[in-house]
Parts: sequence; structure tokens; C-alpha cells
Amino acid sequence: MSDYQIIVIGAGPAGLMAAGQASLLGAKTLVLEKMGRAAIKLGITGKGRCNLTNTADYSDFLSHFNPDGGFCRQAFARFFSTDLIAFINKLGVPTIVERGGRVFPESGRAGEIVASILKWAGDCGVIIRKRASVSGLLVDQGYVKGIALNDQIITADAVIIATGGASYPATGSTGDGYLMAESHGHYIVPVQPSLVPMETAGDIVLQLSDVNLRNVRATLWIDEKKTAEAFGEVLFRPYGLAGPTILSLSRMAVKALCSNKQVYISIDLKPALNQQKLDARLRRDLDLNGKKEFQSLLKGLLPGRLIPVCISMTKISIHKASHQVTSRERKRLGQWLKDFRLEIIRFRPFSEAIITSGGVSTKEIDPRTMGSRIVKGLFFAGEILDLDADTGGFNLQWAFSSGWLAGKSAVNFLSQR
Ligand SMILES: Cc1cc2nc3c(=O)[nH]c(=O)nc-3n(C[C@H](O)[C@H](O)[C@H](O)COP(=O)(O)OP(=O)(O)OC[C@H]3O[C@@H](n4cnc5c(N)ncnc54)[C@H](O)[C@@H]3O)c2cc1C
Repeated sequence: MSDYQIIVIGAGPAGLMAAGQASLLGAKTLVLEKMGRAAIKLGITGKGRCNLTNTADYSDFLSHFNPDGGFCRQAFARFFSTDLIAFINKLGVPTIVERGGRVFPESGRAGEIVASILKWAGDCGVIIRKRASVSGLLVDQGYVKGIALNDQIITADAVIIATGGASYPATGSTGDGYLMAESHGHYIVPVQPSLVPMETAGDIVLQLSDVNLRNVRATLWIDEKKTAEAFGEVLFRPYGLAGPTILSLSRMAVKALCSNKQVYISIDLKPALNQQKLDARLRRDLDLNGKKEFQSLLKGLLPGRLIPVCISMTKISIHKASHQVTSRERKRLGQWLKDFRLEIIRFRPFSEAIITSGGVSTKEIDPRTMGSRIVKGLFFAGEILDLDADTGGFNLQWAFSSGWLAGKSAVNFLSQR
């Protein structure tokens, strides 16, 4: 007789949901969490507000996942955003929908989500043991038999690995689950930081540190080819670029940098005007302000801290009166405003990445159960799998949906045996 029927490794959103579902179905379930607190990462999501899920419809939702949203179909068919919202509301946490279908707790506090899920798991009968870092799995003749915890062995009839990815390791997600899976035959798709800021060449960004541009278009160029674009906010940091648009372009940029491709991000500072309309506006402004210094005209076009950068990159003398700006210089200015280009040379480390791309290959996981096709009784849930999504609440939905399915499937497995 085993110590527990089910052991869940990791008390993040995926692990807690899995454990709660298994317990609700009557399985004696233990969660082992290496940190002194459960769900630390969940508590800092959405800048402390927790973007829980998204109201996008099913097919739109799947399209936000990489490399293959199709794998999520079964889990989402069983437990989707409407179910998660209803579940959270039932725990006594009202939710609101914001721009882009993003769902948050009405209180704006991720801590409220953490507290209510922990209470729910406790009420379901889940036992959570903290400061318990699992070091390996026990597997015998193709069946999981339990886990190793330092010098201790705890036996179980099924194990769910929900140890998360490798991003923000200070929250406990240090990639331990990859080693556990790999040592029992699972292939690990090489992991990389994703939804991560980018480092730029040169020192231009040093002058712009903390400048925040809103309503701009960022375009990713890989080997001279326009590859993707995003509209919204760009933040300058002493090392380079951050902000929602940059994060959303980062997955492709990281991939390209890893294959030694040339990567640029071009910022369109005037996305509402095409090149022709912008040129007409510049011509009009230069005519109207003929005697004024050219520099004063720039004040109406750009945030103050961008002006010296614009001047040095377009090489137009600041001392010129507006009427002295030649048509060639005006064209150069127009082009720069539409295409402020920065070379990307590196990406920031895992400690700054919202999500991990790569992980346990989904080819060896049954999407109907989240069960391993290699080790019987072994299940996976959450970010540990080779799936990552855009910002917008998609990643947490995946953690909860896959946890829900893994918990139920583990109990099914027990009853079938
Ligand atoms: C700053 C930040 C903001 C984010 N904001 C959002 C957002 O607003 N919306 C969204 O959808 N997504 C967001 N994400 C992503 C989201 O947090 C993750 O996708 C999600 O937490 C993954 O859940 P998980 O349960 O799979 O893993 P995790 O939340 O990483 O939990 C894994 C748990 O396993 C434990 N563990 C690891 N190894 C062991 C071991 N050997 N033994 C025992 N326990 C172990 C860890 O300590 C951790 O508690 C954000 C991520 C970050 C970093």
C-alpha cells in the first residue's frame, strides 16, 4: 500500500488545481512544494493584479499558443475560460474584463486569487508540504511508484509533475521537472526565455532609459525580412527595450538570435500617418515655423528625450532655422520617424522572462489525459510542457486547464488499475 494515492510536485496554479480535483474525487493527495510559500509566482502575475484568463473565443485562444495550440484542445474543451471564471467567482472572488478580453480579479490583487485557491485546496482535503524539494521519481517496470525527497522516499500510485518552467527562478521555478522527466525517457525541447526584454547594440538607449512610448508600432526584422509587428507600448531600459510590444515579439527574436540571425526592431513613432501624409505634415510645420529653430519644431513631434537621438541619427543641425531644412533632410526625418531602428544583440536572462519556451515534448504526452506515454501513472501540467502563449491571461488558463485535466486523469488511472 502506497503512502499516498497521488503526489503532485509543485504548488503553482497547475499543481494546486490538479491536487484539488484529485482530492475532490476522493484520492489521498499530497502536494510537495520546494519553497516556504505556495504559488509565489501566481502572486506576482499581471504586475500583482493577476491576469487570470482571457475572453477570446476557442479558436482565437488556441492561436495564441506556441509551438502547437492544437495540443491544448482537449484540456480547453473540458475546462475553459468560462469554467475558470465561474470557478474563481464561486470561491467568492468577483472578476472584471479589461481591454483585449483580459480577465482580472475585481480587487486588482493577485494575492486574493492565491489565498482563495489555497483555501479551496485545503477544503478539498489536499495536504501541502512546504520546503519539500523533490529530487527524483521512483519508477519500476514502466510504472511510477513515488518520489525521492532528499533522503526520504514517499510512495504513490500516480505522480503529477507541475514544477513550472525555468523563468523567474526566485519564485521556485528552476526547471527541476525537466531533469525528472528526462531521466525517465522524456525528450526536453531546449528551453529559452520567452516574453523577455531585448538588449540593443550601441549606447543610444542609455540616453533614453525609462522613456515610455505609447501608441507606437514595433516591427521585428530578421535577416532584412519583416517578420512580425506589434502595436502599443515600448519601454527603454539602460540595456535595451522592454514593454508589451517587445515581449510579444521576443519569442521570434530569441529564436533568430539563437540561430545567429541579424535582428532589428524598428519603431514607427507616427503609426497613424503614412510616409506621404507625414511628409506633408512636416512640410507644413516647417513652412509655418520658418524662422524658428528646427529643434523647436521637434518638440511638437517627439518626447523631449528623443530629440537629441533624432538629431544625431538624422544628422540635421539643430541650429538651422526651419526654412533652412532641405527637402532631403525633411525626407530623412520623415523616414526616421517611421523607422527608428535598433539592432538587437541579446535577450535578457530567465530571471526576467515571463515564460519559458520549450520543455517536456508534447509528442510523448496524451492530450486527452496529460499522461506520459512513457511512464504509466505519470502526468504533467502547466508550464513544464513545451507550450507557451502570448501575454493576455493565456498562460494561466493553460496552467489551470491542464492541472484540472491531469488531476481528474490521475484518479481515472487509479480506478482503472
Ligand atoms: C512576472 C510574471 C508575471 C506573469 N503574469 C502572468 C499573467 O498575468 N497572466 C498569465 O496568464 N500568465 C502570467 N505569467 C505566467 C504564469 O505565471 C505561469 O505560466 C504559471 O505560473 C505557470 O504555472 P505552473 O503551475 O505551471 O508553474 P509555477 O507557477 O512556476 O509553479 C511551479 C511550482 O513548482 C515548485 N517546484 C519547482 N521545482 C520543485 C521541486 N523540485 N520540488 C517541489 N516543488 C517544486 C515551484 O516552487 C513552484 O511553486 C507571469 C509570469 C511571470 C514570471
